[in-house]
Amino acid sequence: MDPVKTLVRDIPDFPKVGIVFKDITPVLGHAAAFEACIEGMAGVSRIHAPTRILGIESRGFLFGTPVAARLALPFAPVRKPGKLPHKTYRIDYDLEYGKDSLEIHVDAIERGDRVVIIDDVLATGGTAEAASRLVESQGGEVAAIVVLIELAALGAASRLAPRPVHSLLRY
Ligand code: AMP
Repeated sequence: MDPVKTLVRDIPDFPKVGIVFKDITPVLGHAAAFEACIEGMAGVSRIHAPTRILGIESRGFLFGTPVAARLALPFAPVRKPGKLPHKTYRIDYDLEYGKDSLEIHVDAIERGDRVVIIDDVLATGGTAEAASRLVESQGGEVAAIVVLIELAALGAASRLAPRPVHSLLRY
């Protein structure tokens, strides 16, 4: 994954002073690197025998939908409030930079589903934890959380335990 790592661009003080934003758009702009990401994320997801892939708005959709297609699995989006058109469940949570809420369609998860949650960056783990709670409140099991980038010093993996966490790149 070293060629992919060299493409991830640090943007200091975005979206707020003190945040070093991991910009993955150069990875999306490099076909072979993006393919390696999808192959890698699909590979670790497959180990957990998922029945559904869930992507977190919005960069989680960029990776989650191709992984779902690669594994021939259904995809469900978790979105910011007011974006999903059907009835939703909502959860409020803390971010690395502020507070936010997430919603999921009430019929997105079936009881007994083994769900792999996909996002681009795992920072504090608050977003992935909120998405996990949405899955679990509907009778689904979080089979794994799979991200491209983990900011390991922030300790998200222990916050999310015992749910398995996989990252292709660690900082
Ligand atoms: P967290 O809830 O703290 O794990 O934050 C994860 C969410 O915020 C993900 O959806 C990321 O896209 C975004 N995010 C948090 N920190 C960063 C960062 N340093 N660079 C890029 N995205 C970030």
